[in-house]
Amino acid sequence: MGLVVVGASGRMGRSLIRAIDGIEGVHLAAAVERTGSDAIGRDAAELAGLPSSGVLVTDDALAAFAHAEGVVDFTAPEASLEFADLAAQARIVHVLGTTGMSSDCDARIKAAARHARIVKSGNMSLGVNLLSVLVRQAARALGPDWDIEVLEMHHKHKVDAPSGTALLLGQAAADGRGVDLEDASVRVRDGITGAREEGSIGFATLRGGSVVGEHSVLFAAEGEMVELRHEALDRSIFARGAVKAALWARHQKPGLYSMHDVLGLTA
Ligand code: NAP
Repeated sequence: MGLVVVGASGRMGRSLIRAIDGIEGVHLAAAVERTGSDAIGRDAAELAGLPSSGVLVTDDALAAFAHAEGVVDFTAPEASLEFADLAAQARIVHVLGTTGMSSDCDARIKAAARHARIVKSGNMSLGVNLLSVLVRQAARALGPDWDIEVLEMHHKHKVDAPSGTALLLGQAAADGRGVDLEDASVRVRDGITGAREEGSIGFATLRGGSVVGEHSVLFAAEGEMVELRHEALDRSIFARGAVKAALWARHQKPGLYSMHDVLGLTA
């Protein structure tokens, strides 16, 4: 399966190029960066620390998509919307890992999925997707007198908060409780906030250093606490998950899918 990596010189872009190199059944069909990027014209494999492959980074996404079967996209919300439209036109698989997308963006992605096979997830790792199933079960079992807090830490370059994974885990908790996350969530606390509102789902964000991604969901009650936790040690877990998603989506009908669908965790 020929895959295009967009955002090829980014942290995830380079990790994706290495993952594609190491997985049977896929090859790097093209590598795309934004117009004006220093990476344009450079060998994509060399950018990722591999021996040269002859695939040069281009800014012509349309031409790149025309000769591929899928695109793996960990870029930025505005860019991902454009790539979703182009992938739908080219009728290729779109694996979308970009986070920080607004609800307007989500509506446009849903529209693109009428014609395209899109797998979208705030976290492409097996561990976090399994964790979200456990969080949903715990939230259902423990009931509203258990306070739920989602805590995350990422490297200092991350631009959106809470992380896509924190929101995914918050959504799992809300689903388990049968509440709407928008209504129940408390994203920020500062100053005299008053006592914690029963049933709310709190978020706390830490940023610093080179942390790839740490997430904890805390369930706290009178006299006891349960913590469900995941730590990403290497970006390659997201890259390998994304490639797995592309191979899976190749055989599906047009639609919007999640990593739960890819991993068979939907039951
Ligand atoms: P990054 O290092 O900043 O990489 C993003 C890359 O996309 C950059 O090279 C950027 O180029 C490029 N880009 C932006 N707009 C573009 C456009 N219009 N055309 C082509 N390329 C474009 O960030 P990162 O750490 O790799 O993360 C990227 C995204 O993936 C973030 O939203 C992050 O939260 C998300 N992420 C998701 C998962 C998951 O499992 N779902 C895991 C890790 C990260 P410039 O530098 O020129 O802007």
